[in-house]
Amino acid sequence: MEDVKKKELLSVYSGEAEQPFEWSAGKYVSRFLVEMRDNKRLVGCKCPKCKKVLVPPRRVCGECFVQMDEIVTLSGEGSLYSFTVLNFGFVDPDTGIQRPVPYTCANIALDGTDCTWAHYLEETDPAKIKIGMRLRPVWEENRRGHLLDIKHFVPVEGK
Ligand SMILES: [Zn+2]
Repeated sequence: MEDVKKKELLSVYSGEAEQPFEWSAGKYVSRFLVEMRDNKRLVGCKCPKCKKVLVPPRRVCGECFVQMDEIVTLSGEGSLYSFTVLNFGFVDPDTGIQRPVPYTCANIALDGTDCTWAHYLEETDPAKIKIGMRLRPVWEENRRGHLLDIKHFVPVEGK
């Protein structure tokens, strides 16, 4: 049997394709994206029944099946719940190009919420990433109403 470690791993470039499309983000997610773009602020929605705060905001609480109309402003800081450092590239659906590796995906428990939110960490060394570490967002200078108006999360200094 051949030793697969000795094989050369090739990638094939198949060219570029563009297929622009857009859709309505809806009332709740639009508010979320506008707050990010215009105010560098994260907001969630509070359930009137169970009082849980979910982010991004959504119309209906998945547990109670009641409409959520109360918008809650968040600090933007949170604690690391889980993470994965990826060393295998894939085509980023936001850009259509392969995301440079390594990069770190994270689930962050934002302060004042009852769920986690997925985003990226700047740090890619697993030895420097600790579950529970305090995090804050780094905002893009030119925001466009997109989840990537936050570049990534970094440790909160001094905490
Ligand atoms: Zn609820």
